[in-house]
Amino acid sequence: MRAGFPDFRLGGVLATSFTATLTERRGDAIERIPTPQRLVDWLTVSGLAVESCTAAQLGLARELRESIHAAATAAALGEALPAAAVQVINDRSLQGRAAAVLTPEGHRRWQLGPASCVADALGVIAADAIGILAGERDGKLALCASPTCRAAFFDTSQSRTRKWCDMNTCGNRQKKARFNANQRKNS
Ligand SMILES: [Zn+2]
Repeated sequence: MRAGFPDFRLGGVLATSFTATLTERRGDAIERIPTPQRLVDWLTVSGLAVESCTAAQLGLARELRESIHAAATAAALGEALPAAAVQVINDRSLQGRAAAVLTPEGHRRWQLGPASCVADALGVIAADAIGILAGERDGKLALCASPTCRAAFFDTSQSRTRKWCDMNTCGNRQKKARFNANQRKNS
């Protein structure tokens, strides 16, 4: 972690890891990619290393992030997808020039276009979101039960009953709150 910046909340799903760069949307929101360099850092740890990032590209990234969040929230609630969000996701997907390549070890890696630019990386993220929103992947979109969070996450648990976007943060906080409430009751 770079000094002075909030750390990243990385999950197993690219699109929702990306939406988790803004957390506590319904509370005191924490922006985890406050500067272009922090977006570069996030892309690097997410396997989408880029050469550089401008303020305008950071703006596009955040627009995509909020569009994925809006569409995923609608999908989780069984509502119609917001047209503006779908447009942004499609635009970013169309403008990326990344290709999937297979490593000798048999892993999938993303190869960005010749300039390794932010647009290519956003294209990969948008395509990942499309896969989830289109129901192509094994799992279910759901909303975090924390009232200050309400992050959309992709539930791949067997029973599809996961309640928290992240067990270590929202889940843990809830457990602690319940524990403290019980302590008060018993004292
Ligand atoms: Zn949460």
